[in-house]
Amino acid sequence: MSNIFKNIAWAFLTLVLISFLFSLFGANSPAPEKLSLSQLAQKIAAGEVKEVTVNGDDLVVKLQNDKTAYSKKETEAGFTETFKNLGVAPEALQKVNMAVQSPSGWQFWAGILIPTLLPILAIGFFFWLMFRQARSGANQAFSFGRSNIRLTTFEKEKVTFKDVAGLKEAKEELVEIVDFLKNPKKFLDLGARIPRGVLLMGPPGTGKTLIARAVAGESNVPFFYISASEFVELFVGVGASRTRDAFAVAKKAAPAILFIDEIDAVGRQRGAGLGGGNDEREQTLNQILVELDGFDRETRVIVLAATNRPDILDPALLRPGRFDRRVILDLPDLNDREEILKIHARGKAIVPEVDLRKVAVRTPGFSGADIANLMNEAAILAARQNKKQVTQEDLFSSVEKVLLGPERKSRAISPREKEITAYHEAGHALTAASLKNADPIHKVSIISRGTAGGYTMKLPIEEQHLRTRQQFLTDLAMMLGGYVSEKLTFGDVSTGASSDLKQATELARRLVMRYGMSEKLGPQTFGKTEEMIFLGREIATEKDYSEKVAAEIDEEVKSFIARAYTTAEKLIRTHKSALKAIAGALIERETLEQEEFVSLLKPFKIKPVGA
Ligand code: ADP
Ligand code: MG
Ligand code: ZN
Repeated sequence: MSNIFKNIAWAFLTLVLISFLFSLFGANSPAPEKLSLSQLAQKIAAGEVKEVTVNGDDLVVKLQNDKTAYSKKETEAGFTETFKNLGVAPEALQKVNMAVQSPSGWQFWAGILIPTLLPILAIGFFFWLMFRQARSGANQAFSFGRSNIRLTTFEKEKVTFKDVAGLKEAKEELVEIVDFLKNPKKFLDLGARIPRGVLLMGPPGTGKTLIARAVAGESNVPFFYISASEFVELFVGVGASRTRDAFAVAKKAAPAILFIDEIDAVGRQRGAGLGGGNDEREQTLNQILVELDGFDRETRVIVLAATNRPDILDPALLRPGRFDRRVILDLPDLNDREEILKIHARGKAIVPEVDLRKVAVRTPGFSGADIANLMNEAAILAARQNKKQVTQEDLFSSVEKVLLGPERKSRAISPREKEITAYHEAGHALTAASLKNADPIHKVSIISRGTAGGYTMKLPIEEQHLRTRQQFLTDLAMMLGGYVSEKLTFGDVSTGASSDLKQATELARRLVMRYGMSEKLGPQTFGKTEEMIFLGREIATEKDYSEKVAAEIDEEVKSFIARAYTTAEKLIRTHKSALKAIAGALIERETLEQEEFVSLLKPFKIKPVGA
């Protein structure tokens, strides 16, 4: 864009220059007086003219009073002729001193050349500019093939295994790679084949990129980073040539690590695409395979690749000699989360007595990236309040922010809405507190966050990988607690319960169809969920049951919800005074922490789980 403007500016400048030159040569500088031919003839006849110099068609006239004037004669006609024709007497003409000056060579040629050559030159210049630009454009297009792969040695920002918390198994697996990169001889002497490709698999944000960098940092080798999604760009064939370049660069720098991020972008199972871009992917994938196979025994380049969708990878990638090593990165557990928090607390001003364990407890399901983000949010929060150090409250507050979105304290709510929200949340909290399989309540709040009007934060006591039917039933009852509470208190329900109802319905359906937890339909699953490879998402559920069973499933879902409703209703009816106490406290204080909540329930002889 700026180039176009530049060209226009150039053209404009050239034009200005040309017209300036023309004006310079055209009008012979200061012209004191201009005489028409007839005026000149009169002056000659009157004897007022001393001298006339003829320069081409230009006449420079010197008058008797020593003034100079200019005039022009007809082009073809001779000087004397002209004035005779104008009726000047020959005697008068004779008195005029005449000099004929042929135009100097320079002036003559300039007079001819400038008007013809200058425009040509200008046009030529213009074309030259255009060509130059076009050429550089073409260069860009051709250089797409040169993978702009990033070489990162991390001199400044070296990452080692110390910067990676948890991921014990992954580290153990990768230590071997580090060892190989450091002393390949040990392996080669034994005749061992060097590992070529390692596939890092794990959900987003679990530290795949980080650990790959750490391997490079530990072994002190260059780290080349390319993202496979960058391959799928613009021209067919670019991906393949970029791949070639990337491998060439890495091989030249060997020993080195070549990291291919998001390999699933090109490494999806072949032959299962929706037209466009698919050819490109296949070509790129083929090129990666070709390059991997082309490594000889001594090549000291280790290719690390990352994906969060190992299930959709082309089997050809996983064959021996290619990405035959697989390292799984899981979401961090409680201890790991604490470790990650500690790592990201480094270099931040944090109140020394902060208990990071408590923060870790509140963050089940967070990835390493979420935790890094949480730490950063806490620092921002503290800075916004002009604090010098990050406090425990800042950390808790950012947990909720990462989970639910920012607090919306400024949203004006009427006292009536506040009351409804308070009873709604109190309903959730009370049901959760009085059911024995429930997860402990950590916080109840009626401050709206994100899209939620209020929230009840319950967290599992320990890491859970399995969940039982009893726990699900408790969850369902708790989900309906808000709705039931509104209904029993006000005899009416609000839209605030809609997302609870949606969640509850989905859960009930899963219990019946996926987990086989319905007594009536028995231990069986219904509906085959097909994962569509090219979209990488569940898009079709094949119905593998009859219409009759479909009706029964609907019945069972309904009955799960109905039972949950009854459970919640019974609890809230028996503990009406407790509900009122919680709601009252919420209206007054807006937020109840775990301890406050527990002590509030003491007089009612309710002892919540985890208290
Ligand atoms: P992925 O590549 O798996 O999506 P990243 O490696 O990009 O995840 O992780 C993003 C950020 O999250 C890292 O830069 C780091 O700050 C943080 N992180 C993730 N996992 C860990 C971990 N195990 N230890 C320390 N920090 C982590
Ligand atoms: Mg990554
Ligand atoms: Zn609710």
